[in-house]
Amino acid sequence: MKNICLLGATGSIGLQTIDIIGAHKEKFRLYALAFGKNIEKALPIIKKHEPKIIVVQDNNVRKMLLAESLNHKCEILIGQEGMIAISEDPQTDIVVNAVMGSVGLPATIAAIKKRKQIAIANKETLVTAGHIVMDLAKKNGVHLLPVDSEHSAIFQSLNGEKSSDIHKVILTASGGSFRDKKRDELVGVTVEDALNHPNWSMGAKITIDSASMMNKGLEVIEAHWLFDIAYKDIEVLLHKESVIHSMIEFQDKSVMAQLGTPDMRIPIQYALTYPDREAFAQSKRLDLAEISTLHFAKMDMERFPCLAYAFKAGEIGGSMPTVLNAANEAAVDLFLNGKITFLEIEKVIESSMENHQVINEPNLETIINIDQETRQRIYHRY
Ligand code: NDP
Ligand code: MG
Repeated sequence: MKNICLLGATGSIGLQTIDIIGAHKEKFRLYALAFGKNIEKALPIIKKHEPKIIVVQDNNVRKMLLAESLNHKCEILIGQEGMIAISEDPQTDIVVNAVMGSVGLPATIAAIKKRKQIAIANKETLVTAGHIVMDLAKKNGVHLLPVDSEHSAIFQSLNGEKSSDIHKVILTASGGSFRDKKRDELVGVTVEDALNHPNWSMGAKITIDSASMMNKGLEVIEAHWLFDIAYKDIEVLLHKESVIHSMIEFQDKSVMAQLGTPDMRIPIQYALTYPDREAFAQSKRLDLAEISTLHFAKMDMERFPCLAYAFKAGEIGGSMPTVLNAANEAAVDLFLNGKITFLEIEKVIESSMENHQVINEPNLETIINIDQETRQRIYHRY
């Protein structure tokens, strides 16, 4: 029986992780969970799984939760310290990091230091501080097991292969909600339009990131760190069916791919059961005869400038990816709240990067400061 600490339990990945835990009660127990403010979603989970420790975003949410009648004994902690405490708790075996945004970074670091098995969905952690996270993981002999479908596909395609034999990594992209629109058709698109993803049902922020192609940009940086691949050896390919989740081309021109229905529970489960595989009755079997045709197209960097910004930030390195990520998180938040237009997301990111003086090899404190300053500057402006 493995004790799971789930960060971001009320989110899209969090709820699907709970499906997996519920389907394998003999293997996994929800020992601790963290969420932000969504008590309505958290309560049924808490009542069903009776986690020993619960972390909420702040004291107000804690008070609201205490007012609910919980029928089991548990501790309720708050904020970053709470997330760190459950990630390094001696009884935690696996940490699933599924919070949204760079707020997940300190917990990832705490889990690595205590050599936990880590299933990482929180890509912003790797974008904002990849060099620190990977260096610590190496020093502590910890594998970060990818939850992101593309990175799970690369991880699975790499099984038993040497990373030095990789010629290139091919990340597939569905294209998001606006893949069939030209740039001039993006003027005036609404939040509702952007939230309508053709293939995947996900949290709001990542759905907007998919529409702007920033999600793929963040994934390029995530792949660079997880698999130690140079940016010039990462290619993005438009593949609208989301059946091939990503591929590796090896030196001998052999290409390995991982395929499946677009169901995040498959990569989530693999990160929990690795190196074993388990049956999961609720996911659909891939039926290629029914799908019949798969499409691929070259990525147009002018149509999707956010992808170009991410490659640029990655290549520049140092503190630039931190700025890219923080500017994007702030811009998407402003868009979701009706303060800026969809196309202004790109402008905010571009100008934040242009105005940033890069710091090489930033330490954790510098990263946290730059992250905060970047956001504050943007919120001040809008
Ligand atoms: P959601 O927005 O659906 O969920 C985010 C979760 O994080 C919620 O539980 C939220 O709590 C919690 N949270 C947010 N801020 C805080 C905070 N300050 N303190 C504690 N908890 C907080 O996001 P997703 O599940 O879509 O995505 C999560 C991560 O997984 C992201 O990094 C995303 O890029 C990645 N990912 C997601 C995929 C998907 O299919 N959804 C696919 C691949 C990667 P609450 O709502 O209660 O406030
Ligand atoms: Mg992905």
